[in-house]
Amino acid sequence: MSTMPAAPRLDALTFDLDDTLWDNHQVMVDTESGHYAWLDAALARWLCERGRSTMPRFSERFPLPAYVARRQALAEAHPLRRGDFTWLRTQALRALLTEFGLADEDAERWADAAMQRFLTLRHQITPYPEVGDLLARLGRRYRLASITNGNVDVRRLPLAAHFPVAIAAGELLAPKPHPRPFLTALARLGTPPARTLHVGDSWRDDVEPARRLGMQTAWIAAEAPPHPLPSGVHHLTHVRELPTLLTRLDRHTSTSPLWRL
Ligand SMILES: [Mg+2]
Repeated sequence: MSTMPAAPRLDALTFDLDDTLWDNHQVMVDTESGHYAWLDAALARWLCERGRSTMPRFSERFPLPAYVARRQALAEAHPLRRGDFTWLRTQALRALLTEFGLADEDAERWADAAMQRFLTLRHQITPYPEVGDLLARLGRRYRLASITNGNVDVRRLPLAAHFPVAIAAGELLAPKPHPRPFLTALARLGTPPARTLHVGDSWRDDVEPARRLGMQTAWIAAEAPPHPLPSGVHHLTHVRELPTLLTRLDRHTSTSPLWRL
């Protein structure tokens, strides 16, 4: 007989996106180098057309690590913007382009163009093959929301159809682990925390903050945790295992009238 304690019946699920519904690593590598290389080449052509071909290449003056370092410095100088990656990238690019010798309005225009390229590449993601069907099935039984710190706009993805609620935490100026994106999702879903399970791969940004609010959580980690997990936290190695967990939790749903309120 299982010793799993009874918990309230679940009405809603919230999902982290990056590294929960798809493998984000290669997308980010390609996006990071791709938009910077595009800017470098397009800017060189533009300068050449204007007779400024004697200028060094932008990427020679500011190699990719200089751009990364500038974003980190900006994030430290503006803690509230820490999770607003689009803002950090745009500001870093504008600053570097100005230092490179562009007029302010040209620096702004080229930074915006590079970010358009970035966002196009950023959305070339491939969810795990099971994810579409999984969300379609779960959406018939639960209210679904996405909560991401990343700059993927879920509305630009085919998966958008499954998420009536989509929270971009960076734009709330309160990236996870701040409670605000979770509370916003709960308010929009209209469900209390105890009846909502959050699914995510980050212990710090997903599991801990959701748990502190009284949500149940599914932690996705390739390795099994070395110690027993706190109550209400469940370990999965892949999101495809979620339906099995939900079936198991359903069997242990509390019948206490308290939870039916
Ligand atoms: Mg994640």
